[in-house]
Amino acid sequence: MTTSDIAYSEFQQRLEQEHLSLSQEIKQELLLNTLVPSSAAIDKAELSELILMAKSSFIPNLFDLAVRMERVDAAVCSGKLGMYGLCADCEEEIAHADLEQDPAQPRCHDCREHNRYHHN
Ligand SMILES: [Zn+2]
Repeated sequence: MTTSDIAYSEFQQRLEQEHLSLSQEIKQELLLNTLVPSSAAIDKAELSELILMAKSSFIPNLFDLAVRMERVDAAVCSGKLGMYGLCADCEEEIAHADLEQDPAQPRCHDCREHNRYHHN
């Protein structure tokens, strides 16, 4: 195992923990705001449905949780595909310092700069 493998597995563990706590928070908020009839209904729903519900609720806190969840979920999925730590745009490795700061970071520094320049 190389140093980068060890760092990656640490980042991925952090992601999985965040994934778990985010899904609990989203479910709790959905219930609190009575966007779902019962916790039984939540248990039956797919994560993607919960995210959609949360995003279309226009409740700022819930919306933010859902946006973060999408990002974390995508990063967890890329880990399952063995693509963790690779930029979603150019497939270069994302700097460790960036992943350290946000393990769900989907893009390398260059692509983030590029996006900022072109879209903002
Ligand atoms: Zn890139």
